[in-house]
Amino acid sequence: MKIFRTTSELLKWRKEGVSGLLGFVPTMGALHEGHASLLRRARKESDVVVLSILVNPTQFGDVSDLENYPQTLEKDLKVAEKECVDAVFVPTPEDLYGGTPAAESVDWGAITSDFEAAFRPGHFDGVVAVVDKLFTVTTPDKAFFGEKDLQQVAVIRKLASLYHKNVTIVSCDLIRDTDGLALSSRNIRLSDEGRKTALELSKSLKCVLTSSNKEDQIQIEASRLNSTEGVDLGYIAGVNEFTYSKNDAPETWTHVIITAEVEGVRLIDNIRL
Ligand code: AMP
Repeated sequence: MKIFRTTSELLKWRKEGVSGLLGFVPTMGALHEGHASLLRRARKESDVVVLSILVNPTQFGDVSDLENYPQTLEKDLKVAEKECVDAVFVPTPEDLYGGTPAAESVDWGAITSDFEAAFRPGHFDGVVAVVDKLFTVTTPDKAFFGEKDLQQVAVIRKLASLYHKNVTIVSCDLIRDTDGLALSSRNIRLSDEGRKTALELSKSLKCVLTSSNKEDQIQIEASRLNSTEGVDLGYIAGVNEFTYSKNDAPETWTHVIITAEVEGVRLIDNIRL
């Protein structure tokens, strides 16, 4: 397995010529089974698999979230070996951005202004900036993203359709732990008690899924979560994964999405309807 620590090393390797279809999995590291599932899908659908690991500063609004973001590179490289990754790209932010990391503002309508975008101003600007740079240096044929970050998939599809037309975006299933909690690198910051509280999110999503009146059930779950100790609910809503418009009728919803803070840890989850 090759490890490239600078953009120029990766570019040199790409120039030398890689034979076959290149599948790319961008991550921020602290790899878990959710990331591994993306790597497996990429392995199945590509000849060469490239994984990138970079905690991207421009997508964090909250400095303490960035500072506390877990970094487990040695362990991550073992996961990559196990999943038969061909090359791991681990640049510094300064190297990838060619200077101080910065992101321009992106306005693509509801997908970059509502829900996650509204709760985390500037977040998708940073995501677009880093993925644009990663696509430019990696030039993949396919790139694999998790449905765990459903709105991000919509944003990346738009980015690819505008600026990286040769990259096919593959959206991969959300992976949960056995207790139902959506896997996330941030979960390790939860105490046992916090983890139990966090399970209320996936429970609510399941209740909406099985309800005959999803609109009403969303309201019921919102008030239940608002009165649950330890849960600071951001939103729970039905959306169409392609538009993210608040005007979409319930019949056009594809998912119910939710976000909340538990013990200061931002959790995000969704369920396909
Ligand atoms: P991150 O390292 O959190 O930026 O995530 C890197 C990629 O892994 C993104 O495409 C995420 O959506 C995906 N991912 C993270 N957690 C999960 C999960 N539980 N299931 C599926 N994909 C995931």
